[in-house]
Amino acid sequence: MSRLTGQMMQMPLLISSLAVHAARHAADTEIVSKRCEGDIHRTTWQALELRSRKLAQALARLGCEPGDRVATLAWNGYRHLEIYYGSSGSGLVCHTINPRLFPEQIAWIANDAQDKVLCFDLNFLPLVEKLAPQLSQVKHFVLMTDRAHMPPSSSIPRLACYDELVEAEDGAYAWPQFDENTASSICYTSGTTGHPKGAVYSHRSTLLHAFAAALPDSMGCSAADAILPVVPMFHVNAWGLPYAGALVGAKLVLPGPHLDGKSLYELFETEQVTFSAGVPTVWLGLLNYVKQNGLKFSSFRRTVIGGSACPPSMMRALEEEHGVEVIHAWGMTEMSPLGTLSKLKAKHVGLEDAARRQLLETQGRVVYGVDMLIVGNDGRPLPWDGHTSGDLLVRGPWVIENYFGQKTGDPRESPLVEIDGQSWFPTGDVATINPDGFMQITDRSKDVIKSGGEWISSIELENVAMGHPGVHEAAVIACAHPKWDERPLLVVVRKPGVVLDAKEMLGWFEGRIAKWQIPDDVAFVDEIPHTATGKMLKLKLREKFKDHKLPTA
Ligand code: AMP
Repeated sequence: MSRLTGQMMQMPLLISSLAVHAARHAADTEIVSKRCEGDIHRTTWQALELRSRKLAQALARLGCEPGDRVATLAWNGYRHLEIYYGSSGSGLVCHTINPRLFPEQIAWIANDAQDKVLCFDLNFLPLVEKLAPQLSQVKHFVLMTDRAHMPPSSSIPRLACYDELVEAEDGAYAWPQFDENTASSICYTSGTTGHPKGAVYSHRSTLLHAFAAALPDSMGCSAADAILPVVPMFHVNAWGLPYAGALVGAKLVLPGPHLDGKSLYELFETEQVTFSAGVPTVWLGLLNYVKQNGLKFSSFRRTVIGGSACPPSMMRALEEEHGVEVIHAWGMTEMSPLGTLSKLKAKHVGLEDAARRQLLETQGRVVYGVDMLIVGNDGRPLPWDGHTSGDLLVRGPWVIENYFGQKTGDPRESPLVEIDGQSWFPTGDVATINPDGFMQITDRSKDVIKSGGEWISSIELENVAMGHPGVHEAAVIACAHPKWDERPLLVVVRKPGVVLDAKEMLGWFEGRIAKWQIPDDVAFVDEIPHTATGKMLKLKLREKFKDHKLPTA
């Protein structure tokens, strides 16, 4: 029996179509950037699309050919957005590098990806000058600024000026049409163990993800929004907001390197930001600033918080003190990154406050396009009962099949596992799922504390500690114990000026958590180390406290 073929237009899902759409239908909608140079820059989607075309011409003039990698070391700004569209749109691959990584890691990543062009912000000039001799494949170094801000001299050979390259072109360029499965961009995982690995997104995966990101039960983006992604454009494409923003024709507000509480608050207010997204640590800074100065937000309505578990106390502060809806989200570099978001169903409308909060504090439900499973040690699926925890697996058209450089179809190289004839990506996270599909991360599998055969969730303990008014930040790690194998050690950064000792801190857990899960000890530190994407670096903490002797040991 032959199937009937659909008779719809064959139009590949290409990233350039987002820019073209925004230029036509949100022509005068603004993109506002706080530049590295220190000033505020204003442009529109129409002007941005034209400059992206000029950039595509300029990159071709530099000798770039389809598939070549154009790397960026840059903060959130309009030039970075032009590179997103100008490179991917013309068949090149946009490789966003995290500038917060160690210089040796940056060089390793740029060489691994075989970057041909490196575009970078003004404040990374000293870094790139140091790195340039190690970047064997980079043929063109482009400083993302105007002529006036170019350095009089630099050790970088043939350092080009971004604005000059763009402005030398006429924009008479038609976006090419090609297969939607073509690679559009690369982002490397943070690589806390071993070398970082590249996730290679396609035009198709990026567009499908942008549709899903904009949905009401997802990030709910709209043309009426002014979106300020605090999450950097080098952290999994700012969680897709540069694409979803174009898809709906929203105003974008890009904060550049100015991510302290004061700078962010001022930008939220002057640009009347309605929606934002970022990791928990940035909200710590912003909320402290707002509280210390007795300020209120006048337009800010909702935010996505993810990348690490959002402490319930932070959610409460944003909601109760500022009327800001918090959408707790979970995802990964390998997932473009969106997987789940905490949004209620109709049946939850009448729930009493505690039950409603409990659901919203989970990492939420999958968006269409991602499916998930939890499995036990035997690899068999576990029930969705809200308390059985297991390894979390995902699949979907924006979930990776292979890392950059690995051969597709070679089972020895594949990161995927087979379950009942389907391929799944193991996330490395441990989670529960309730009967309504609300997923809750209890830990990274390597961070779980295994006490006498029982598992203790470090995230749960951290959330309780964060609820104490004197705690600025808290991490829980496993500490060796002669009887129980491992017991939890709580590491705390106190708020400035707060007097808080171990006895009071541990007393805070009484009645808030099962007695046997209460940490055995507290260590007070000045600072908790973070990864380049703002996650607590527990590896470093475990090293630091490897000889710590628990009082119970
Ligand atoms: P990355 O790819 O560097 O963004 O890291 C992805 C990992 O971050 C996930 O596998 C989780 O371990 C963690 N993560 C992301 N979002 C959350 C969240 N909302 N709660 C807890 N962990 C999270």
